[in-house]
Amino acid sequence: MANQDDTFKKVISHAKEYGYVFQSSEIYDGLSAVYDYAQNGAELKKNIRDYWWRAMVQMNENIVGIDAAIFMHPTTWKASGHVDAFNDPLIDNKDSKKRYRADVLVEDFREKISEKIEKDITKAKKRFGDAFDEKQFRETNPNVIRRQNQINEITERLTKVQEEGDLEGFKQLILDLGIICPLSGSKNWTDVKQFNLMFGTKLGASAETAMDLYLRPETAQGIFVNFLNVQKTSRLKIPFGIAQTGKAFRNEIVARQFIFRMREFEQMEMQFFIKPGTQGEWYEHWKAHRMKWHLSLGMGEDNYRFHDHEKLAHYADAAADIEFKFPFGFKELEGIHSRTDFDLKAHEEYSGKKLQYFDHEDNASYTPYVLETSIGLDRMFLAVFSNSLQEEELENGTTRTVLKLPSVLAPVKAAVLPLIKRDGLPEVARKIVEELKWDFNIIYDEKDAVGRRYRRQDANGTPFCITVDHDTLEDNTVTIRHRDTMAQERVNIDNLRAIIKKEVDVRNWLMKMK
Ligand code: ATP
Repeated sequence: MANQDDTFKKVISHAKEYGYVFQSSEIYDGLSAVYDYAQNGAELKKNIRDYWWRAMVQMNENIVGIDAAIFMHPTTWKASGHVDAFNDPLIDNKDSKKRYRADVLVEDFREKISEKIEKDITKAKKRFGDAFDEKQFRETNPNVIRRQNQINEITERLTKVQEEGDLEGFKQLILDLGIICPLSGSKNWTDVKQFNLMFGTKLGASAETAMDLYLRPETAQGIFVNFLNVQKTSRLKIPFGIAQTGKAFRNEIVARQFIFRMREFEQMEMQFFIKPGTQGEWYEHWKAHRMKWHLSLGMGEDNYRFHDHEKLAHYADAAADIEFKFPFGFKELEGIHSRTDFDLKAHEEYSGKKLQYFDHEDNASYTPYVLETSIGLDRMFLAVFSNSLQEEELENGTTRTVLKLPSVLAPVKAAVLPLIKRDGLPEVARKIVEELKWDFNIIYDEKDAVGRRYRRQDANGTPFCITVDHDTLEDNTVTIRHRDTMAQERVNIDNLRAIIKKEVDVRNWLMKMK
């Protein structure tokens, strides 16, 4: 497990060293769980956002995108249930004075048991070789059965205390499981309390007339309140979707995992409006479709799994997460929620305005049901970044650090390198940059030996290096080096654009969703 920590530390320091992510206000010692995206990070983030937008909005005739304000009328949050129910259960350890989310403590405890099962299975697999039958092993091995029963029991009790809002029961569960504080090692816990995650602020200049506002904790509500405006002006027919990306704010109780859980973050959400009764099939459709989007990036099928929710939010009739294998284990990356007509009905009630759809085929009005896909852009960034960062042993016994970003997402697509700084090579290299920059983000680099420059670009995630040497002056060819394979080819300068385009073009990547 120490290994996991090391990998994660490397991810964080690499993100800083190569200009991806900085701590916010670092010169003032930072602000907890707030981060800034640096020169490369801003590009990677933009590329992920674009990749999502293209897949959702551009590729679907019946999905349009909007950009609603962060500030919304405060009644929005009454209607959505956030004022009353957007709480997390918190608990403090009296010895370390550290604060935890009570549900996360229990979930982590349960995950550890699950890891033990996986270890037993790996061991048995090694021992039995080809003859190993995993299903049979899970069903008959006494250790696995005992642990699985323990997991089931924890899940049952956790769901119950959450559903009933039973804070005393929650504490009892933590005590019964003997969960200890990782810092102090003690079981000296306070009671469990509810904590609302919304940030409040004020609108208006004078104290008497100022209005209490919230910073939005999700982007979805900006879509719901605009549902009818969009439907009428776009003349879309159900089923149709509205997408948006934008900042959201949550005063998270525990935020210790870099950009995994931030207090200011960005979401990419899509609300799909459907006829009541069809939510089952649309739920399956969007689960499958979103998984395809993830897999199109080629980050390994084994790194994803679905997790169906046992405890449903107040608005949902079905929900699943797409989990990703982060350096600290499988965690939620995206949520697919069947939100019923909860939100539209609530906004109708609180605003007094009708938010219904007239179905010409049925000649009837109804409140649509909603299927939501919601992914954190920063979390996706972390998934991509941590998965791409690799240490490779090379044949000559050295290692290289390489950031194998899906090339469609890479901040810089190619670096152009003159072999040496004279003999007219820099001029030719500059000309190549001038030509390619119309299509791609390109950089020019002439500092240090070419081998070091290659390593620098590998660590930066740049898919191609283009080297100009003396032969270039003779025959108009250059060496193009591929980041992942380190293979080098000699190609004509006139072909560079096509070679790069083939590799980084969004079209070719999105095609993999077909
Ligand atoms: P969690 O259980 O991790 O707190 P959630 O279930 O509250 O997440 P949702 O409300 O479903 O999350 O939000 C949708 C997506 O937004 C999540 O899948 C995640 O990718 C992202 N997200 C939520 N909270 C944060 C945060 N504090 N920092 C970064 N991303 C977040």
